[in-house]
Amino acid sequence: MIKSIGYAATSSTAPLAPFSFERRELTAADVQIEILYCGVCHSDLHQVRSEWGATPYPCVPGHEIVGRVVKVGSAVSKFKVGDMAAVGCMVDSCRQCSPCKEGEEQFCEKGMTWTYCSPDKHTGAFTLGGYSSTIVVDEAFTLKVPAGLDLAAAAPLLCAGITTYSPLKHWKVGPGQRVGVVGLGGLGHMAVKIARAMGAHVVLFTTSESKREDGLRLGAHEVVVSKNKDEMKAQRNSLNFILDTVSAAHDLNAYLSLLKLDGTMTLVGLPPQPAPVSAFQLTAKRRQLAGSSIGGIAETQEMLDFCAKHGIVSDIELIPMQQINEAYERLVKGDVKYRFVIDMATLSA
Ligand code: NAP
Ligand code: ZN
Ligand code: ZN
Repeated sequence: MIKSIGYAATSSTAPLAPFSFERRELTAADVQIEILYCGVCHSDLHQVRSEWGATPYPCVPGHEIVGRVVKVGSAVSKFKVGDMAAVGCMVDSCRQCSPCKEGEEQFCEKGMTWTYCSPDKHTGAFTLGGYSSTIVVDEAFTLKVPAGLDLAAAAPLLCAGITTYSPLKHWKVGPGQRVGVVGLGGLGHMAVKIARAMGAHVVLFTTSESKREDGLRLGAHEVVVSKNKDEMKAQRNSLNFILDTVSAAHDLNAYLSLLKLDGTMTLVGLPPQPAPVSAFQLTAKRRQLAGSSIGGIAETQEMLDFCAKHGIVSDIELIPMQQINEAYERLVKGDVKYRFVIDMATLSA
């Protein structure tokens, strides 16, 4: 077994605290990665606090992982020791069902294996994530980090990047379209950058007046402060597509009314509570309400290559591991510009 140290939550109310555990020995298909950076996703916080249902503890969160390959199994062909590698939200799937065969492992019919808090086929225990010193992952679920990307700022691409890239591509966002992004947090700021790079006219919706200028700097053509009724009214029936990244309960109908005929609003934010939807807002202009979950492995590699080509990374605040609980408090308040990334070198400090 391989010794690993990390931070774990032991209950929904306990702060994250130092935790020692073991990773499995490598199979022929595995790589072992020394983790250099791990992004902090709002999903980590939802899961640590059991906001989506019963979390299995101890929970070591983290699914925006970038690091260095330190060991490879005998059948590994994509990586050699010393390469940079990345791991996102999934570490395995059945690989047999039709979504898996089509490269959409996130929709595996048997249920894919999440990077943390998910039954692990190899050990029979629950998977433990990236707030840790090292991880062992099948190379088929390991990504290549394109040269030229800042490693710490690239880490959030592994979840925030793919979760926004995938629906923007699926709904064919591009030139000539007006695209709304709701919420300027980790996912939202990546959506603004990616939608802009895809050629769309981007309208950012934020509850925070203080983020207005940042929205423009990050690539939005227009910024609407959603608390301002007149600004919202001016966008009615004007958008082809909306990507909603909000992590807490909010009024979906206010955004549906901004879609034009046949427009689609896709939810990627996962507030714990269900939200009421007005049928009138959908029928009025044949609008569609949809959802999207991360993205497949091949698409994640495509997104990394797209970001490298367009010079896109996340705007990050690098934190030592010891500041994680404070970072969670700030995340709840929407006070992050725009992704916390943990510097794993501080883990053993
Ligand atoms: P985040 O960095 O905390 O950003 C969320 C943003 O939502 C905030 O910055 C804030 O933006 C806005 N917001 C927060 N509370 C709000 C409220 N009460 N009313 C209106 N707006 C509010 O979170 P994240 O990491 O981007 O994640 C966002 C959500 O996506 C989470 O629920 C997460 O679990 C989910 N997620 C889903 C997937 C998927 O595959 N579908 C993948 C990753 C994450 P403003 O200040 O600009 O208003
Ligand atoms: Zn995430
Ligand atoms: Zn499958």
